[in-house]
Amino acid sequence: MGNIESLPVRADLVGREPYGAPHLDVPVQLNVNENAYPIPDVVVAAMRAAVDTHLSGLNRYPDREFTALREHLVGYLDGVNERAGTPVDLPPEMIWAANGSNEVLSHIVQAFGGPGRTALGFTPSYSMHPLITTGTGAEWVHADRDDDFGLTAEAVAAEVARVDPDIVFLCTPNNPTGTSLGLDVIEAAYDNCSGIVIVDEAYAEFSRPALPSAMTLLEGRPRLVVSRTMSKAFACAGLRLGYAIAAPELIDTLRLVRLPYHLSDVTQVLACTALDHADLLLGNVDRLIDSRNAIAAHLAELGFTVHPSDSNFVLFGNIANPAELWQKLLDRGILIRDIGIAHHARVNAGTEAETTAFLTAISDIVDTDP
Ligand code: PMP
Repeated sequence: MGNIESLPVRADLVGREPYGAPHLDVPVQLNVNENAYPIPDVVVAAMRAAVDTHLSGLNRYPDREFTALREHLVGYLDGVNERAGTPVDLPPEMIWAANGSNEVLSHIVQAFGGPGRTALGFTPSYSMHPLITTGTGAEWVHADRDDDFGLTAEAVAAEVARVDPDIVFLCTPNNPTGTSLGLDVIEAAYDNCSGIVIVDEAYAEFSRPALPSAMTLLEGRPRLVVSRTMSKAFACAGLRLGYAIAAPELIDTLRLVRLPYHLSDVTQVLACTALDHADLLLGNVDRLIDSRNAIAAHLAELGFTVHPSDSNFVLFGNIANPAELWQKLLDRGILIRDIGIAHHARVNAGTEAETTAFLTAISDIVDTDP
């Protein structure tokens, strides 16, 4: 950050660091947990045709309530919940959407956080949770996860009861550790506070099918909100579309803090088209899971500690110097993430070719400098 103190900036922003994943143009980018596969040609053609029919109407503001998109999201989620054997009744009034789940989270925290309020998270977790919280002037409080990065219902219940936060962040599967939470952990958080419980399920589609979504807990829990995204499994990070599922009253509250017309017409039409082609866009999820498993197995063979992951990335430890490993991989055209956990780094599953390139490079580095 430059010398922002020369400006009349909010005192609580001085000394803070912005979100900082390096954006480098290298051949193999495995650092921000995207879906490595491009949008299939059939979907590209459908998106082009759909946008084309909307272009002359761009003189008008978009549908502020994104009605068609809500219905498309309901259709997608109904399928998800039915396939899981846990149907959930989701009327469109239980759906929110915004420009990425970052904006969804920001709307929730603007509505329920703010000055004088507190949000609790269990770290290490997604670095934007504290940034979004403190950005609204709320206080961020964190508790540590277990040594294996898991969380028990007992530990969460005790911490939530102790802090009595206005907002609790739970992330499953958790970024950057890949760890999933049982529904008992979510219930424990909910039952031990009177605040909003956010379950960030950005990577849910990569989870084992046996792991139920927090969506199945929504009935009778008006303070629970589940956030998801089209940036990861759906391969639409560039589209910027995240969504949330919660009781209609909670969703309604978010309308107080969003900017009018926050979702552009182009975003809405592209997201609807993507949802019409969900099967194709999600078609590489199994391949990415295979790549993730191959990475985990190979890194374990090389002597790294590998944390079990239900996501599209792997957190690995026992690295003497993560910054040095990061640089050596970058020198070979491969970008991974040094997430600031001592002796650890995170890599996301790439295409088969990218995954092979990463595994070859890291084997080579270990062989040269064991
Ligand atoms: N939640 C988690 C846990 C994430 O890892 C990310 C992105 N890295 C997001 C939310 C935000 O994603 P987006 O805004 O692209 O939906």
